[in-house]
Amino acid sequence: MASALGTVSLLPGRALLHFLFPSCCASCGATRRGVGGGGLCRACWRALPLLDGDDACRACALPSAAPLCQSCRNGVPPVSRAAGVVRYEGVARRLVHALKFRGHDILAAPSGALMAATARAHGFDLGSGAVVPVPSTTRRNRERGYDPGALLAEEVARRLGRPFRALLSRIREVPPQSTLPAGQRRRNVQGAFAASPAARGADLLLVDDVMTTGATAFEAARTLREAGASRVDLLVLARTPEAEPLLHAPPETA
Ligand SMILES: [Zn+2]
Ligand SMILES: [Zn+2]
Repeated sequence: MASALGTVSLLPGRALLHFLFPSCCASCGATRRGVGGGGLCRACWRALPLLDGDDACRACALPSAAPLCQSCRNGVPPVSRAAGVVRYEGVARRLVHALKFRGHDILAAPSGALMAATARAHGFDLGSGAVVPVPSTTRRNRERGYDPGALLAEEVARRLGRPFRALLSRIREVPPQSTLPAGQRRRNVQGAFAASPAARGADLLLVDDVMTTGATAFEAARTLREAGASRVDLLVLARTPEAEPLLHAPPETA
């Protein structure tokens, strides 16, 4: 104990903090520079499976479905266009899980920076209206102490120089979408949001962390459009490579 204390006393401030609160990569577990918290190591940031925007559906960001996937051709998407940063797999999946479920709120700022860069690359930075998060449920935000979608949207807004406005609220708690099969997700989230009257006439950039079937993001976009938003673009951090969005209600089952 005495020798350990001796070691501690020889360390300068930041090294001492690192000794007491070592930081590991939230994806691979490797020791990373920095103090406490988490974040990703450099190798994992570099290994993110970036989405090819030119090859993705322009209404739901589904990979390998340009210009419009089958589902977006069949229905009328509630968003004018959509873009995603990474495919929801591998390192990206572990990044999103760490941000959403393991308390690594430190990942929101660098992730939001990547989203803002993607928004710029797609010309989404040219809008004049607010950046709006898809809100998570109150109960889950209370449990983890923060709202991941809101943290991402704040960073995107700051970097694009657009205002951040929380124009959507949850008006009922629903079971987590991740616990439901794809066919039940649209109905599960129907009527889950309410929009502020301030959405009327606005040109909005809707931000969410992960898009699987699109049921949640499209319901949020639909709510903003019904409240009078003139335009809603969608920007997500991660997009699943396989599932198509459910623009239409799933077939009724007996
Ligand atoms: Zn790593
Ligand atoms: Zn699509």
